[in-house]
Amino acid sequence: MYKIMTAGPTQVRENVRMARSLECTNPDLDPAFFDFYKETCEMLSKAMHTENKALILGGEGILGLEAACASLTESGDRVLVIDNGVFGKGFADFVKIYGGEPVSFVSDYHRPVELSELEAFLQKDNNFKYATVVHCDTPSGVLNDVEEISKLLDRYGIMTVADSVAGMFGEPLDLSNSKIDILCGGSQKALSCPPGLTMLWVSDRAFRAMEDRKTPIAAFYANILLFKDYYEKQVFPYTMPVSDINGLRAALENYFEMEDSIYDRHARIAAATRKALTEGGVPLYLEKGWSNTVTCIAVPEGITDMEILEGMEKDYNIMISGCFDVLAGKIVRIGHMGENCYEDKVAETLDALQGTLEKKGIQVKCDLAETFRKELA
Ligand SMILES: *Cc1c(COP(=O)(O)O)cnc(C)c1O
Repeated sequence: MYKIMTAGPTQVRENVRMARSLECTNPDLDPAFFDFYKETCEMLSKAMHTENKALILGGEGILGLEAACASLTESGDRVLVIDNGVFGKGFADFVKIYGGEPVSFVSDYHRPVELSELEAFLQKDNNFKYATVVHCDTPSGVLNDVEEISKLLDRYGIMTVADSVAGMFGEPLDLSNSKIDILCGGSQKALSCPPGLTMLWVSDRAFRAMEDRKTPIAAFYANILLFKDYYEKQVFPYTMPVSDINGLRAALENYFEMEDSIYDRHARIAAATRKALTEGGVPLYLEKGWSNTVTCIAVPEGITDMEILEGMEKDYNIMISGCFDVLAGKIVRIGHMGENCYEDKVAETLDALQGTLEKKGIQVKCDLAETFRKELA
């Protein structure tokens, strides 16, 4: 098995794997499971500093993005799609599928969205039911200030759907200091569970917008409203994946044990990674606005992305990520989030990267791992 230092899925701690192998109850019939599910959702609300209802849906992170759009969008609704990355751009597809009219605000992929530019756009056009925005857009690693963006949108009466699948639990996020109406998360990034679960945090305003629709939500599996009163009614729309949720619960308990240090650790490891690469002359993709969960390297001249990935796998047994969509071939990515975010793991990855680059004749101007460790000391 490769050591996965990818930008998600991430490595999974043993106690999470063990929790997933516990005996299963019948989650549709056992009242104790409803309590367990509710408590776990309350832990999610607490982690994001909000009283907004949190929900866990059986399905990969993408399900949450689609469910948010499915549940809010009615035919003809104008939706602002904030696009400074591949996932940001992708929201337009979900809006269209559910009959909405996406309008894109496009901003440079090499840096975060500038609030002043977004505000200038909104002054001319602000007739939107909601907007979509990505916290950490993983293919480029850019980090948008979703708290401030949502407050700006709220001043124009626009609701916010924010994708923090690859941000949350590695980058601090305080929903109480935001106007985010639906926050989307996934199990397999910084929370370090295996893939399989979507988490959603839904404001009262968003639930009201779903209830006030003129037309029914054109989805069942992606219908958030069906979850609203699960506890009072003691019914889920479909059978909950008990083992996945047992794993998520263990990962959340791990998170609360580390809560005081986890964000500082991510910030330090990420800064030291960037420092080592910069000193070594290995180019970063972004100009600024780097997320602390992933570092994106612009593939240097004289080597291809596949040569880097395959070299690291074959010679060092370490897997990092390539890229896709408009960034395919241009970027390789080290995921240093969640269980990947430890000094030894990242140092070993940098060592493997250096060896792979040098084998292809690309000069690296310092010892990456040593510079990285020195920076952390
Ligand atoms: C990983 C990720 C998702 C979810 O994608 P999956 O294919 O379900 O893993 C959504 N948004 C962002 C920004 C992500 O990084």
